[in-house]
Amino acid sequence: MGEELSPEAILFNDRLNPRAVLHRMGFGDEAISEEGETLRLFCPIHKDQVRRSLILEKHRNRFVCQYKSCPAHSGGLLVELLALYWNVPVAEAIRQYTEESHPERQLVAQADRLIAESKLTEAAALLQEALRLAPRDEITRCKLAALYLEMGQRDRGFKEYLTAAEDFACKNQVDKTLSIYNILVMLSPQDLRVRRQMAYLFSRLGRHKEAAEHLKWVIDQLMERGEIEEAIKDSREVLQLCPNEPDVHMLLARLLSQTHRINEAVGEALQAAELALERGDRTTVETAVTFGLIYNPLHERLRELQALLHDSPLAAEPSTGESMAGEDEFGEWLESLQEEVEGGKVSGIRRQSPSPAAGTSTIRQEQWLLYCRNTLAKLDNEKLESMGRQLRAMFEDVEASFKAGTLSEWELNILKDFYASFCLAYDQVRKSKL
Ligand SMILES: [Zn+2]
Repeated sequence: MGEELSPEAILFNDRLNPRAVLHRMGFGDEAISEEGETLRLFCPIHKDQVRRSLILEKHRNRFVCQYKSCPAHSGGLLVELLALYWNVPVAEAIRQYTEESHPERQLVAQADRLIAESKLTEAAALLQEALRLAPRDEITRCKLAALYLEMGQRDRGFKEYLTAAEDFACKNQVDKTLSIYNILVMLSPQDLRVRRQMAYLFSRLGRHKEAAEHLKWVIDQLMERGEIEEAIKDSREVLQLCPNEPDVHMLLARLLSQTHRINEAVGEALQAAELALERGDRTTVETAVTFGLIYNPLHERLRELQALLHDSPLAAEPSTGESMAGEDEFGEWLESLQEEVEGGKVSGIRRQSPSPAAGTSTIRQEQWLLYCRNTLAKLDNEKLESMGRQLRAMFEDVEASFKAGTLSEWELNILKDFYASFCLAYDQVRKSKL
């Protein structure tokens, strides 16, 4: 690392307990993986969403990130990691670590009072200052993001939510992250970075079908830009995390065929077919087999599978019930959602205090509706359907996040209002395209 360390700093480093330092940085035990003499984290410096690339040597109190382009790749002492993470010089990091003063907490408490009085602009200024003092406080950052949303500053809200989501994910608090990513998707359905991270997150959570769904968005975007190699790389990353998802193998097969890697493409198609066969998903088996045979008509196993499809009808394929099946079903669900939002019920708990900007909420909701309709109108039918499939799960994630204590009640109410506007807009756009 760049800075010359003082003997005091080196001595301070020697006395540190690495796990205690990580806890102080906000990493719970769920974020830390212990392997012999080392501790491993999803690197918070380059915000790794896939691997535990940051390695701490317990007995030397040294760190290094395995990712070459990361500022932490050159490694150093634990105290330097602390400084890097807090974005302050080493001496200042030591001071903050020892003093344990938290001037930002008072600012946040003051901001909460202002929010209750609907003084949003003043509250935002205090939260900004609190974040300058403690930039790694995700809960405060989410609060500021919700405030921006409420104030109609969507771009700023988006930026703060994205930062908070990435930091939460590095701490392996994946469930808390999802509700934020859902908002990011609603704000900007085509954002490559958000979709990519969601694909990684869902694969980390073992929700492979959803991972594949988000990966499709990533790949479409990359294809539009002609970045096929990049798309292949993303597919492989996701496959490392969920190797048994036939849809992802099929995506990769198509990408590989476009770059004329025919053998590899057929191999992926075959894997997709076998995995889909295990699940009794006939449509995917058929798609994969047909695709494979186009490139290698004599492939023995693929022909076997083709014959199998011919002779014995596979078990009925998984019903499409999980997608938005009936017209009426979605309408009914939307109605109950609106009732819930307007009735102010929060997962069965009555809303304690009025929404901060209660007086302007009608105008705000109309603005949101308009904004969401414009965003959704830009999507083609396939993408619109994909959004529809995600909507209900998204809502459950928002509620789960509230129950986990990540969101305050007024934040939840803002998110629910925004969510309801989004769903309403979705319904209108969908009907206009029928
Ligand atoms: Zn790193």
